[in-house]
Formats: sequence, C-alpha cells, structure tokens
Amino acid sequence: MMTTKTTEGFDTPVEEFRAEVRQWLSENVPAERLRPWTTKEGFDQHRRWERTLFQGGYAAVDWPVEYGGRGAGLRHTITFAEEYYRARAPERVNMGGLYLLGPVLMQYGTEEQRRRWIPDLLSCSTIWCQGFSEPGAGSDLGSLRTRADRDGDHYVVNGQKIWTSMGGFADWIFALVRTDPEAAKKRKHAGISFLCIDLRSPGVEVRPLTMVDGTQGFAEVFFTDVRVPVENVVGEVGQGWQVAMSTLGFERGAVFGDHAKFSNDVAALAGLVHHRGFADDTLALDELGRVLVSTEVYRANVYRLAALAEAGGDLDRTASINKLYWTEMQHDIFATGLRLMAEEGAIVGDTSAIDENDPLTARAWQEWHHRYWYSRGAMIFGGTSEIQRNIISERVLGLPKEPRPS
Ligand SMILES: Cc1cc2nc3c(=O)[nH]c(=O)nc-3n(C[C@H](O)[C@H](O)[C@H](O)COP(=O)(O)OP(=O)(O)OC[C@H]3O[C@@H](n4cnc5c(N)ncnc54)[C@H](O)[C@@H]3O)c2cc1C
Repeated sequence: MMTTKTTEGFDTPVEEFRAEVRQWLSENVPAERLRPWTTKEGFDQHRRWERTLFQGGYAAVDWPVEYGGRGAGLRHTITFAEEYYRARAPERVNMGGLYLLGPVLMQYGTEEQRRRWIPDLLSCSTIWCQGFSEPGAGSDLGSLRTRADRDGDHYVVNGQKIWTSMGGFADWIFALVRTDPEAAKKRKHAGISFLCIDLRSPGVEVRPLTMVDGTQGFAEVFFTDVRVPVENVVGEVGQGWQVAMSTLGFERGAVFGDHAKFSNDVAALAGLVHHRGFADDTLALDELGRVLVSTEVYRANVYRLAALAEAGGDLDRTASINKLYWTEMQHDIFATGLRLMAEEGAIVGDTSAIDENDPLTARAWQEWHHRYWYSRGAMIFGGTSEIQRNIISERVLGLPKEPRPS
C-alpha cells in the first residue's frame, strides 16, 4: 500500500480512498457518453457533471478544505485520477480554472480573491479561460500589447487576445495586460499585470474560431474600454510576468494522474491492432510496443515526481521536460492509431464510409480524430516544443543561450 503525506485532518489510507472513489464513480458516472464539450449541448452536460463531482467532494481532492477541496495528498490525487480514467468519467472542462488559475490564486492571490473565485471555479459555476496570447505575442509573449490604464479605482482595458481555449463558453478570463507601457521601453517583460476580467463586462467581444476538425473550442477576445476593478489584479501590479511564468509552470508541469488517461489510449490502440487483424504483424506490434513503453515510462516518472514533491523537492526544472515528453508521446499514440486505421484514418467529419457494425463505432473514429488534432495543438499551447527545447537546453542543461536580436 502506498503511504502519503496529507494535510492534517485527511487521513484515509490510500487503498481505502481508492475503494470509496471507485464506488462513488460507479454510482455517479453518466451511463451515456456526454456529447463533445466543444458543442453548446455537450458543454452544458459537462458543466452539470462537474457540479455533481463538486457536490461529491471530488472536484480537487488535494486542495485545501476551506476552498472546497479535500485536503488530501498527492498520492490520493493520483489514485483519484487513476479511478476517474478507469471509470471513463467525462473530460474535465474547467482546465483554465482548475489547473492554472486555482494554483496561481493559492500562490499569489489575496485571501479575499481566493474566497471569491475558488469555490465557484470548483463547482464550475464560473468557467475560466486564459488570455495570454495575442497576434504577434505567442512564443514571444513579452511583446503583448493589450493595455490597462488606471482610471480611479478601475483599469480601462483595450486590446485583443487570440487562441483563447474555451473562450466561447467561458465566463471570466485571466489576462496579461500592460499597466505600465513606459516600463516596457526599458525591458519588455516589465510593467505587465495579471488581471481577472468578467467576460460579461461592457466592451468585451468574444468571437469563436473554428478549428481544423470543425469544432469551436477557441475564440478571439476583443476589449474596448472595458472597466475592471483594480482589486482584480492578482499579485503585485507590474509584476504580472512573474505570475505568468508560474502559470506556465503549472501548465507545463505534471498533472498528477494523467498517465492513466494515456494508458486508456494505449489499451484502445491495442484493441485497434486486434480489430484490424494485425495481432501477428511485427511492424504493428513494434509500434504498439513503442507507445506502451513510453506511457509506462511516463507513469513511472509521475510517481517519481510525486515522491519528489512530497519530500519538498523543487519541480520547476522538470516542467518543460514533462510538457515536451507527454505532448510528443500523446501525438505518437494518436498518429500511430491513424496509421493503423489506414483508409478510415483519412476520414475527417464524413462518417458515411464507416461501417456502423464496426466494434470501433463511428463515434469512436471521430473521437480518435479529434484527439489526434488536439495532440498536435498540445505541442503548441503552453509554449511550443521548440520553446521547451530552448528552455531545457538553456535553463536545465546550462547550454549557451540562443542568439536573440539586441
Ligand atoms: C490547442 C491550443 C490551445 C491554446 N490555448 C491558449 C489559451 O487558452 N490561451 C492563450 O493565451 N493561448 C493559447 N494558445 C496559444 C499558444 O500559447 C501559442 O499558439 C503558442 O505560444 C505559440 O505562439 P504562436 O502561435 O504565436 O506561434 P509563434 O510564436 O509565431 O511560433 C511559430 C513557430 O516558430 C517557432 N518559434 C518561435 N520562436 C522560436 C524560438 N525562439 N526558437 C525556436 N523556434 C521558435 C515556434 O515553435 C513555432 O513553430 C493555444 C494554442 C493551441 C494550439
């Protein structure tokens, strides 16, 4: 049995907790698969599911009790995720809030901000999105131009964000804005602040963007004279770069337990190999073996990082390595699947050529495609693979810095 360090008051042994979670999921996971969250109907279904999860006390088991978590340790978090994926429970939809803003508020937020935003975030009453990228400011995020000028006890925001995941469904956005454009003349990362903005404010316009698979998971967000109370700045005014780097650290770092998701994907791939009659094909088995090994390595690494974190170790240096590894591994899984599907793998959107009697249903084909395209995007968001390689070479390995324009 695994042992773990937990917050005072949460002392359920891990295996007992596993049995409790398994029972709860068996009673609560919807019998019917939910529609994809990229549709309005599907998003509402996922939101309702998140509320059920919150009411069950499982929205974020490792968060402090006072903010709606369970105060459990990392091993419990991993156990919960393993059971969650085992039960094939619905995809989580408040990722920006859960994995990015929540941890940022714990680190930089005021007590008032935590109490104001975290419980609604956990129950999914408020969906959050991330407003960092702009046209001309992606990898080079420090070039962002959205301004927030102080006017009494408000900021007046003008500018544009792009590639905002879930922008069309979100209620609030946490954005990087320039509160001191003068400071940027000396150093472009200076004078930036991290500002939370209600997307229903007058002057906000959200324009959905259609993705390559036809779904609308992205949006552009335009701000024209949007008034935002000064108390919505998280961290120090002008120190938003530091908060942004922590946010990206959370985005790139280990999501404890997601190895179970990839194991499900490899199991699906094994099913595909059998289904297509490749069980004796050494080339197909080679491909399957490669992705199986990479997911097992990833699982072992998640356990290693959890042990390191519990011992008080610093995970900062591992964030970029982690992101590079899981995104490339995930892409390999889905690209391998498409190769094995052969001609069916080339079908996007049009399912008319798919045999409905196929044990892998038309819906499953489509989902595989969707996940394949998502896996390509994952190698871009949170900093592209090239940027992660630059960070690893410069900051982890101490190699010479890439040439930059002076
Ligand atoms: C699925 C998905 C979801 C996203 N969600 C969000 C979101 O919710 N919120 C948000 O703010 N943004 C989001 N983004 C945007 C994402 O952060 C940016 O796309 C990313 O940072 C790259 O910026 P860019 O698109 O401007 O490309 P660019 O920065 O223009 O890069 C173009 C190419 O040049 C390469 N390149 C650039 N600089 C270097 C360098 N120094 N060394 C080597 N190669 C380099 C890049 O690797 C890339 O291949 C999302 C993107 C995707 C794909």
